[in-house]
Amino acid sequence: MRLLVIEDEARIAQAIKRALELQHHAVDIVDDADSGLTAAIDPDYDLVILDRMLPGSIDGIAVCQQVRQQGVSTPIIMLTALGEVDDRVNGLQAGADDYLQKPFAMRELIARVQTLLRRPRQTLGTILTADDLAYDPVTFSVTRGGKPVALSAKEIKLLSYLLYNQGQVLSKDKIINHVWDDDTIIVPNTVEVYMGYLRRKLDTSFPDKPPLIHTVRGFGYRLGVK
Ligand code: CA
Repeated sequence: MRLLVIEDEARIAQAIKRALELQHHAVDIVDDADSGLTAAIDPDYDLVILDRMLPGSIDGIAVCQQVRQQGVSTPIIMLTALGEVDDRVNGLQAGADDYLQKPFAMRELIARVQTLLRRPRQTLGTILTADDLAYDPVTFSVTRGGKPVALSAKEIKLLSYLLYNQGQVLSKDKIINHVWDDDTIIVPNTVEVYMGYLRRKLDTSFPDKPPLIHTVRGFGYRLGVK
């Protein structure tokens, strides 16, 4: 999944980026409120982490309000140095989905991110499944029919995006936008290459089972039982 971090303290922003990348997410950082608002409206982000106090013409609360006014429902976690009840209420009223007070434990942020990314598709349990394929986003383990499948970090990133959106046809552009971050130059052919790897490991290696990765000619890819 691709996440946006709007945070002006570079040290914190980089720490969040590193932690989320270890969870196999792509992460972009923006360090002021105005460019944060522009970025957060982009539907290619699966979740936004938004600091409350930001340089720019507006603050984090206003960014959140304006994102919601534009009809964008991307989950937002607000970060703040202020811990008063009023501030928490203001953040939630502005349309944030969750609220975390600084300083926070990175583990807690990660847990909240995982919870928000899961809902509303799967509110119970952490394991994502399709047929007998199972992916555990906490341990990053992948199995098919109970048999472990070894995937690289990039393959896991791609698989988790497909699983979170299973049944939907996803274009190459959409896959690139949700799976790779801004720091990487990527061409559509790269998606084909990685799809090939996944298909080999998840489908070709299990010839007795129904294939899960489907090419929809002219449109993109779909994961699911046909
Ligand atoms: Ca700040």
